[in-house]
Amino acid sequence: MSALFQNYGRRPVHFVKGSGSYVWDDRGDRFLDFTSGIAVLALGHCHPKLVQTIQAQSEKLWHTSNLFTSTEQEQLAADLVEETHLSHAFFCNSGTEANEAAIKLARKYTKKHKMITFNNSFHGRTFGAMSATGQEKVHSDFGPIVDTFEYLPFNEPQILQHAIDDETGAIMLEMIQGEGGVNAITDEFAEMIQSICDEKGILLIIDEVQTGIARTGTKYAFEQTVLKPHIVTLAKGLGGGFPIGAMLGTAELFEAFGPGTHGSTFGGNPLAVAVAQTVIDLTFNEAFLKNVNEKSAYFQKQLALHLLKSDVKGWGLLLGISVDQPLAQVVDACEKQGLLVVGAGETTLRLLPPLNVTNAEIDEAVTILAKVLN
Ligand SMILES: *Cc1c(COP(=O)(O)O)cnc(C)c1O
Repeated sequence: MSALFQNYGRRPVHFVKGSGSYVWDDRGDRFLDFTSGIAVLALGHCHPKLVQTIQAQSEKLWHTSNLFTSTEQEQLAADLVEETHLSHAFFCNSGTEANEAAIKLARKYTKKHKMITFNNSFHGRTFGAMSATGQEKVHSDFGPIVDTFEYLPFNEPQILQHAIDDETGAIMLEMIQGEGGVNAITDEFAEMIQSICDEKGILLIIDEVQTGIARTGTKYAFEQTVLKPHIVTLAKGLGGGFPIGAMLGTAELFEAFGPGTHGSTFGGNPLAVAVAQTVIDLTFNEAFLKNVNEKSAYFQKQLALHLLKSDVKGWGLLLGISVDQPLAQVVDACEKQGLLVVGAGETTLRLLPPLNVTNAEIDEAVTILAKVLN
């Protein structure tokens, strides 16, 4: 019997080494990793600059707690909100914690409890974030959840419009439902949300845990819409593989998150912040973002060319293809051919290469996908 709780359905392969877009298992077999640790490894495995950062910082200072000033957190916060309408950051350790902070801040600021989220969303596993998640299977058997969330169908502007009342404090959503099936927001829905938030003074929270940090070809995915969120949550790609999360917010929220309101012992720890700063230094620039968009266009073109049926969804390098065969079988078959992919929802194969993937690696993935899917 395993000494681990079996709360994950783990695949029977054990990786021991990674470099760039590749990982090696304990038998020496090489795999092309188009999961990127579920959209985490923005710069691939063991990027030399990140290795260097961890080595240097690990010899200087690991942890101080938030009892003391952190110039490094200040710098990272400033870089994350630069060129946006957002003003402040709070650091934590994961996506669910970033959303937990967002839910608490929204309630405290608006003094309203009702929050709208959407079917097939995913916001995390802690009580607040789990309750925000619009998927019955995530809640089941855990007893009463936080009961102030109202789940609506995604991309249905009319239904949303009718659901808003004076008790509604906030709307929370992803720009692309990552876990839910790579479902991107439509322009029409984004326009409706923004006009509702403007008109009714409703707080807008965008969960960019999966879509943020250049994954969709812009620093944040909301930049590709008309939306101006009051709160943006981040994690996954932010640390490039080192655990760190963040909540960004507008200036008007500043007073609501004063001393003692919220916190995290580890949040914004010097080691995590140093790594995230290096990730941001490398990804938040025009050349890097342009390259993500070029790689996305190339990937989509090759999929269209080589797959008999290619129904590609998503933006940037958060792509999905609808498959007819059972998802688990497709993931298995790809792995046997040396390509790691992950499912999303019931029928979507999610393609999440590192953001610095090469055309040759994309070709290799497309060849395997064609073999498996055609
Ligand atoms: C992964 C994910 C989360 C949860 O992040 P954790 O770090 O696993 O807590 C929340 N929201 C979205 C959109 C995610 O993709």
